[in-house]
Amino acid sequence: MTSAPPEPLDVAPDEALRLMSAGAILIDVREPDEVALGTPVGAIPIPLRELPTATARLPAREAPLLTICASGRRSQQAAQWLQASGWAGARSVAGGFLRWQAEGLPAVVHSALDADARERYARHLLLPGVGEAGQLRLLAARVLVVGAGGLGSPAAFYVAAAGVGHLRIVDPDVVDRSNLQRQILHRDAAVGMPKADSARAALLALNPRIAVEALSLRVDAGNVQALVADADVVVDGSDNFIARYLLDAACQAAGKPLVYGAIHRFEGQVSVFGGAEEAPCYRCLFPDPPAAADAPDCATAGVLGVLPGIVGSLQAAEAIKLVLGIGVPLRGRLLHVDARGMVFRELRVPRDPQCPGCGPAPLRRPPQGLEALCALR
Ligand SMILES: [Zn+2]
Repeated sequence: MTSAPPEPLDVAPDEALRLMSAGAILIDVREPDEVALGTPVGAIPIPLRELPTATARLPAREAPLLTICASGRRSQQAAQWLQASGWAGARSVAGGFLRWQAEGLPAVVHSALDADARERYARHLLLPGVGEAGQLRLLAARVLVVGAGGLGSPAAFYVAAAGVGHLRIVDPDVVDRSNLQRQILHRDAAVGMPKADSARAALLALNPRIAVEALSLRVDAGNVQALVADADVVVDGSDNFIARYLLDAACQAAGKPLVYGAIHRFEGQVSVFGGAEEAPCYRCLFPDPPAAADAPDCATAGVLGVLPGIVGSLQAAEAIKLVLGIGVPLRGRLLHVDARGMVFRELRVPRDPQCPGCGPAPLRRPPQGLEALCALR
């Protein structure tokens, strides 16, 4: 008996493009500083060395999968590894991105920084671990900030100032005078305006070289997946449990890192959930929403105005680190701050194997179920 001949590993770039238009997913396995300079349109960047820990970001094993690198060697290794790991249809793009570009196929190419960017980001360019490649990576990144309130204000300001190229800010509310004590995105003259629009104006005034998408809507089970789908990092600056649980579920499903922050009176907490193999999620820490009476919001409990400034800035730092791939994220760790004594404490957050958010599939609830769960309480 003879076994079937093995499928060829390589496909030509134009054939790869045809397969992509028929639904194949292309993974760019080069290093972040290479991808920052240019990548095929629609490619998902996952460095070769990260593939084994990034399986949550890969499509189902039946899905056609393509890999690309600079010249076609690393992508062959990647395709071989993927085939051995169950993605039987994995193929490598012959000749890599060099041939892709030489054949004039669609690519996003980021040329070197222009004079404005060199001046604007001069202090980043000096920084080890950032430099020009890191700045280009920031400019190519997409960050979703949910909430243009106390936490979203400093988080969005610093993410925009850092040069994250696409910022999506979502908030359903209008600016109220009582917000101005802490929500520094908004000016007195913006009272009565949608917060998302006020935020967009403030962010573009700070950095007109980025794209800011303002969405005046409430995160719900129907829109949460689309909101996180193309984000590289999600920052949760929401003030309600429905949004928090929905964002956790959507980030888990899409394999995106979620930068969590929360405040209460003089205390705050920050952590990073998901986005990596074996990373705990929000529900490993808080499996179910609390009863409404146990979770008063700022309007009922009060909050020290500067506190969200501290916590939101920490969230911005985590988001920027995640985009750059530098340092150690607050993953599996919860940083707690009490501004009265200015005491920072770090608590370990282990992953819960029986977690209703990231545990075995039967335990998980669809987003609609989460909405009902939060509403009940
Ligand atoms: Zn979990």
